[in-house]
Amino acid sequence: MLILETILDYKNWLKKFGFNKKIGFIPTMGALHEGHLSLLNKARQENEIVVLSIFVNPLQFGENEDFSKYPRTFQDDIEIAKKANVDVIFAPAVTEIYPTKQNVFVDVQNITSGLCGASRPGHFQGVATIVAKLFNILKPQVAYFGQKDYQQFLVIKRMTEQLGFDVKLEMCEIIRENDGLAMSSRNKYLNQLERQQAVCLSQALRFVKNSIESGEISDANSIKNEIEKIIIKNTLAKIDYIFVGDSKNLEPLQDLKNQKNILLALAVYIGKTRLIDNILIHIN
Ligand code: AMP
Repeated sequence: MLILETILDYKNWLKKFGFNKKIGFIPTMGALHEGHLSLLNKARQENEIVVLSIFVNPLQFGENEDFSKYPRTFQDDIEIAKKANVDVIFAPAVTEIYPTKQNVFVDVQNITSGLCGASRPGHFQGVATIVAKLFNILKPQVAYFGQKDYQQFLVIKRMTEQLGFDVKLEMCEIIRENDGLAMSSRNKYLNQLERQQAVCLSQALRFVKNSIESGEISDANSIKNEIEKIIIKNTLAKIDYIFVGDSKNLEPLQDLKNQKNILLALAVYIGKTRLIDNILIHIN
């Protein structure tokens, strides 16, 4: 496995070894866990070459967010990548990616105005810009993303379609801890009590999913109330948003009757840590 830190090194490697090969790419910010591993494994099965990027992208963090304290566990990440048979880790420094002040941005509109876009202004512009840049540098045929960041996946999908990137996108299911908590690098921030309470996100989503599928509730307000009731039982939880809407375009829905593609998504602070989770419901 190679670890490459510069764009030039990657280009030289690509010319020698990557030419005409099917390259599967997994962009991450490191602090790898089993969620990331599932993307690596899928990419390994489907490609000749697997490229993992590890880059904590300052552009996607707001001023008061956790860029400087975001977990960085590079040595452990290398071990996980080796076990997953990754061919190349691309791990550039911030100055390699942004040698001068970045003033070209990819701005995906509409679907970024709600959900995480509303509470993290500029976040998706930072995400779309770095992914565009990584697509251009690394030249993958396929890129793998997690459903965990569902809105992010839609943003990248829209960007790829509308800017004509020749990259196929794959969305992979959410990998969870045994109690249902979606795996996340940010779970490392949680203390013991916070960790116990963090399970309320997935619990709430699962509970209302069952009620929706059994036809017990179908209006968005009741769904949000049910979710809220479960979340606020937890003393350390503070709701950022609860979204009930169309999974294709992220338009909020009032009534789910006759809706086929439903997304329930939420962001909740557990103590100081902001966690997200979501669930897709397909009604036939
Ligand atoms: P991150 O390092 O948090 O930027 O995540 C890198 C990629 O891994 C993104 O496409 C995430 O959606 C995906 N990912 C993160 N957590 C999970 C998880 N629990 N299950 C599946 N994919 C995940």
